[in-house]
Formats: sequence, C-alpha cells, structure tokens
Amino acid sequence: MRIVIQKYGGTSVGDLERIRNVATRVAGTYDAGSAVVVVISAMAGVTDNLIDMASEISQTPDRRELDVLLATGEQTTAALLAMTLQSMNYPAQSLLGHQAKVHTDCAFGNARILNIRTSRIKELVEQRKIVVVAGFQGCDINGNITTLGRGGSDTSAVAIAAALKADTCEIYTDVDGVYTADPNICPKARKLKTVSYDEMLNMASLGAKVLQIRSVGFAKKFDVPLHVRSSFNQEEGTMVVNEASGMESLVVTAVTQDKNQARITLKKVADQPGVAAKIFDPIAAEGIIVDMIIQNTRAAGKTDLTFTVPKAQFDRAMEIEKAVAAQIGAERVWGAKDIAKVSVIGMGMRNHSGVASVMFQTLAKNNINIILITTSEIRISCAIEEKYAELAVQELHSAFGLDRKD
Ligand code: ADP
Ligand code: ASP
Ligand code: MG
Repeated sequence: MRIVIQKYGGTSVGDLERIRNVATRVAGTYDAGSAVVVVISAMAGVTDNLIDMASEISQTPDRRELDVLLATGEQTTAALLAMTLQSMNYPAQSLLGHQAKVHTDCAFGNARILNIRTSRIKELVEQRKIVVVAGFQGCDINGNITTLGRGGSDTSAVAIAAALKADTCEIYTDVDGVYTADPNICPKARKLKTVSYDEMLNMASLGAKVLQIRSVGFAKKFDVPLHVRSSFNQEEGTMVVNEASGMESLVVTAVTQDKNQARITLKKVADQPGVAAKIFDPIAAEGIIVDMIIQNTRAAGKTDLTFTVPKAQFDRAMEIEKAVAAQIGAERVWGAKDIAKVSVIGMGMRNHSGVASVMFQTLAKNNINIILITTSEIRISCAIEEKYAELAVQELHSAFGLDRKD
C-alpha cells in the first residue's frame, strides 16, 4: 500500500474550520486507498504564547518543564484533528511523540531525533487507521518529553517518512511552495517547480523558514522526496529532490534574508598568530555558533575583527569578548543587533563568475553598506543594516532576473 505522510503547519490548523479543511484533505487521500500518517503542528501563535507565558514566570525557565509546556500545543491539535476525522466516520487515532516512539537526545528545546521505532504506527496503519502524530516532540532515554527546535514539525514529518519508507512526504503550509524569495517580502517572487536538497539546505540555513533545516538534512540523507504545497488550494507545489531530476538551471535560484544575527567588533587587536584562537575558543566552548567573520588590517600591527553570533546569544558573547579583550589588550569591544544577512543561492554559481560583483553593485546602487561578506561554492551572503533587508531582497531578486514576468 502506498504510504503518504502529510504535515500540516500552524496556519493550516489555525482554527476548527481549518482543522476541518485538513480532515477533508486527509480523508480524500485515505479514500484513494493510501495509508495516511498525519504530522501536525500547534495552531499558529500557540507556541509563541506558551513561550511568553513561561518567560513571565522566569527569564530562564527550567528547560525540561518548558518542553513539557511547549509539547501541549501539538497535543491539542493532534487530538482535535483525530476527533474531527472520527466525527466524519473515519478511524483516526492520535499519538504523542513518545507514543509514536520518536526517540531523541536529551537536548531540551533543540533535541535531535535518534531513531523512531515504527511498530506502533505500523500496527495502526495495518488496521487501516489514520494516524495523527503530534509533531515537534519526542522523548529522551529517560522518558522526558523533548522538543525539536522552532519549526520542528517538519523534521518530525520527514523522520517519520524516512522510518516508514513512505512514498511521499507532503508539507502543507500557508504558501504554494518554495519561492525564489519569501513571497511575503518579495511580491515578484516565483514559485520553483523543483529545488535541490543542497539549495534548500542553504535556503533554510540562510533564513527561508518554509522548511526547518534539519528536515531537509534528513530528507537528503534518506532520500525522502518532499512536496511543499498549500493546504488552501489544490495546486502542485515544489518538489525538493536530488539535483539530477531536471532542475531549472539558474545561476541564482533564490534570495533570502535572516535577521537572527548580531555583530561584535574587537578594535585594535594584535596582528599575531594565536590571537584569533583566543577570541573564538571561549565562544565555541559556550556552544555559540559564529557565522560570519571579517578582519581589517590597520597600521602598526593591529587589526579590527568583526564577527556575527545568533541574536539570542549576543549578550553572553559580549560578556565573553569583554573579558577576552582585556586579556589580549584589544582597545574596545562593541556590537549591534540591528543587522540582517541577505544571501543569494544557486547551484549554477559553481560555473559562473561575476555573481559577487552583481550583488555588490546592486547593494551599492541602493546605498546599502556591506558590513561583512561570506561565500561558499553555491552562495554569497552580506551582512547589512537590518532596516534595508526587505529592499535588498527585492533589488537582488530583480538584479538576478528572478522576478515573475507578469
Ligand atoms: P508552517 O507553520 O506551515 O510550518 P512557516 O511559517 O514555518 O509555516 O513557513 C512558511 C513561511 O515561510 C511562509 O509564510 C513564508 O513567509 C516563509 N518563507 C520564507 N522564505 C520562503 C521561500 N523562499 N519560499 C516560500 N516561503 C518562504
Ligand atoms: N509549533 C512549533 C513552532 O511553532 C513547531 C512547528 O510549528 O513546526 O515552532
Ligand atoms: Mg514551519
């Protein structure tokens, strides 16, 4: 029997009427003879509200209890969807993460799926039940509830698809597919028919939250074909697949923006071997991920060093660097949270020169200053002032010929 995994995001289950809409779609697939396993998110805004409530009690709530709290969002929608299907005379049953045997490591708030024992899901599917799994959650070796990081239901869905060797994994969301840029920022963005796992990995890691990055990593590793599409219409969406299958060969496929970074600068650092290690070792020891780095040479054996860290860890990183600066004799440390990273991404870049110069010229033409730059084989990223992020996305999108023709 064909096995279909359908994941519905927060907007798609935002109220009871939308849950009924989801139930109708699920029932249609079931009636067509497929086994359906549904993975469900919390209603839009619910996870945010739960986080806000917890932070009213404490700025540093206990991480175990926070996961117990956050998992309730998905528990609610899983039960509501199962009930809705039952009210339509379909044999549905909900499973929480631990009941579906989604086993994770112990990293509360950002747990990784280690394995999924599929016996329970398979048993229900064999009884021709529609299984509704609460996404975003699992349990660790001690039986504690864990959550998988924001947007984590995508990863639940792909992991379940991989474990069940499903025929397809459909990700239903509030846009029609993966676009050349966030369609909510760039009205001229075009829907992509296909996108490769590698491009999607880059897009997700550079700010396109349409898929959680880990879900794409899983899909690539286990060769799970993903179909990203809207829960509000019947249109074909975007297939996320291996590179080979007839990709559109654009030099630049997508433009993204990410406002989640902050900048730290150390002024007048000695230009000597070992200094960079002294600056970055203590940050790494705290598990803070440094993304972009730039070093400007000054006169008299001194340099300025600027780098970015996630906004959430900015305060801690500043504290660490102030101590480092005192130790290595840097003149000053300062930072800012008002930066954004804009990126252009495309497999075609590997064989093309001139992409960077088009990017830099476009930003210059719009009077947007570049603070930092990083590149890889298939992407170029620039940190700029946050207030220009949307403008930069739109202008780069046009400059690389990605605008919709109509
Ligand atoms: P869900 O709740 O269904 O998981 P998300 O809000 O997590 O939905 O992801 C969908 C959102 O991703 C869209 O509303 C859109 O604003 C955003 N997005 C960012 N970049 C892109 C892109 N390149 N293509 C499509 N959507 C994008
Ligand atoms: N509800 C969780 C979140 O808002 C997980 C998800 O929606 O994928 O991050
Ligand atoms: Mg999401």
